[in-house]
Amino acid sequence: MKEKILKEFKSRFETEPKLYASAGRINLIGEHTDYNGGFVFPGAIDKVIMAAIAPNDTDKVKVYSIDIDEEVEFGLNEEDAPTSSWARYIFGVCREILKRGGTVKGFDAVFAGNIPLGAGLSSSAALESCFAFALNDLFNDNTIDKFELAKIGQATEHNYCGVNCGIMDQFASVMGQKGKLMRLDCRSMEYEYYPFAPEDYELILVDSCVKHELADSPYNKRRASCERVAKRLGLETLRDATIPMLKAIRSDITAEDYFRAKFVIEEKERVLAVCDALTRGDYEKVGEEMYATHAGLSDDYEVSCEELDFLNDLARKSGITGSRIMGGGFGGCTINLVKKDNTEAFIESVKREFKEKYGHEPKIYPVVISDGARKIE
Ligand code: ADP
Ligand code: MG
Repeated sequence: MKEKILKEFKSRFETEPKLYASAGRINLIGEHTDYNGGFVFPGAIDKVIMAAIAPNDTDKVKVYSIDIDEEVEFGLNEEDAPTSSWARYIFGVCREILKRGGTVKGFDAVFAGNIPLGAGLSSSAALESCFAFALNDLFNDNTIDKFELAKIGQATEHNYCGVNCGIMDQFASVMGQKGKLMRLDCRSMEYEYYPFAPEDYELILVDSCVKHELADSPYNKRRASCERVAKRLGLETLRDATIPMLKAIRSDITAEDYFRAKFVIEEKERVLAVCDALTRGDYEKVGEEMYATHAGLSDDYEVSCEELDFLNDLARKSGITGSRIMGGGFGGCTINLVKKDNTEAFIESVKREFKEKYGHEPKIYPVVISDGARKIE
């Protein structure tokens, strides 16, 4: 990828570029916890967006996307926003740096990536983080701190791409480190690294390639349930709620609200249990918690779907260590913690059995926990 990008840059521009990359991400555990003031547990992966970039002494940005095969040019003022959706991520990053008093001048860039788009691995966060990191290095002497770079990516999604996302994806993409996951406290924004570099296990994502569009804003409804229960408990969020507290008000709330809150409270405990297990190197325990999360997402939070439950059952039947829905639900990927000896047979049977039932093969992505945003040369 590096050679391809440099070659393409050379053919379009005269200057010597610098190379930067940032990564996609997975979340091992901690689902639907961010808006409840809880914990998420992401890490950067070995799939990246890579860009060659050089200042061009003008006030224009010229970017070529190898994967889309399109070149876009834009100025740096608010009214210069490009129409191509991929270019808006880069324009947004420039604008958000400028809005914070940072410097961005004209530059030429060529980029490409190997993160599957829209599969739940946050290719958009990788794109934002790659350019945010690069522009910090090229024009700001790296004076913008890394957490702020993540916020710049998040603000780009909010203000230029119409996606009202949390901070996890950009945080993981910017701050990720090889062999480490990060427990991010979504209330205090404090974070801590935990080792994740198993010798005998690997992470395999299985993309169901289905996405069920639901009419009645299921996310907003779940959020409202959580907020209602927190309020009933006299809390700001469910972060400080416990199962005994929830049981004590069971007769005052609807069954639906009860089970939504139960999932969120238990999920917080599971993240903490997984952190403990990783400190001990106990990957079997990590896997058990992943299955428990899947069951909670399916039965209590009700954000699974037939295809994802099928993949989860199949993982269990195949003796896979851990498996669960990754992401918001209603489609997308499962994340699987697989003993290396089992990988080949698992992939073969998942492809075959899923296809037999649903008519198409799922996509398989092995991932390794790797570094986040960085300068390559
Ligand atoms: P994801 O879950 O992968 O972040 P999004 O829909 O949020 O999915 O972001 C995908 C968008 O990011 C693409 O439509 C495109 O605009 C941009 N993008 C991601 N990867 C690339 C790439 N390699 N080249 C060009 N644009 C990309
Ligand atoms: Mg995205």
